[in-house]
Amino acid sequence: MSIDWSPVEIISHESLFWAAFSLFRSAASQGVNRPPPAEPDRCGAVSAITRRCLGMTSKPRRPCGKIGCRNLTTERYCEEHAYLAEQQRKERHRLYDEQHRDKRTAAFYKSVAWERVRQQALIRDHGLCQDCLLEQRITPADVVDHIKPLRLFWHLRLTLSNLRSLCNRHHAIKTQEDKRRYGGKENG
Ligand SMILES: [Zn+2]
Ligand SMILES: [Zn+2]
Repeated sequence: MSIDWSPVEIISHESLFWAAFSLFRSAASQGVNRPPPAEPDRCGAVSAITRRCLGMTSKPRRPCGKIGCRNLTTERYCEEHAYLAEQQRKERHRLYDEQHRDKRTAAFYKSVAWERVRQQALIRDHGLCQDCLLEQRITPADVVDHIKPLRLFWHLRLTLSNLRSLCNRHHAIKTQEDKRRYGGKENG
């Protein structure tokens, strides 16, 4: 016997299906069909505690990085030589700062602002070495020098009163003086 579906019955079966389907979907979205969350790994936790009790830290112990030191450590150096790591960190910082300053200085000497104030200094000094003038000699200037060195007095880099026109010979003398006075290298 075949079932003769009337159009009304088809609609009602269809709507039943959709009702069931939407029920199923909302149940799934609320996590009813999801597997329960996994139990915490108790075996792992216990073994970590056991390891700690036995003094076996998770980091392997290696010989200290200081040549000739036989102490074992989980860090780069043993406690006795930990100051070396700090020293190296400071040295890296110092090198970085120096490179940064060198780059900054190189960029400064190429800048339009420097070229402008340098010309002003040369005009003011009549293009003559100011130290040669003090020795009562007339010598064309080769460079414009920062009286207070650029490296240490960066804020005075464009201050006209901090600039002096010098010949190469006097600039070399001034550079040596700066080294004695301020130490390290001199950048103008
Ligand atoms: Zn050591
Ligand atoms: Zn001179």
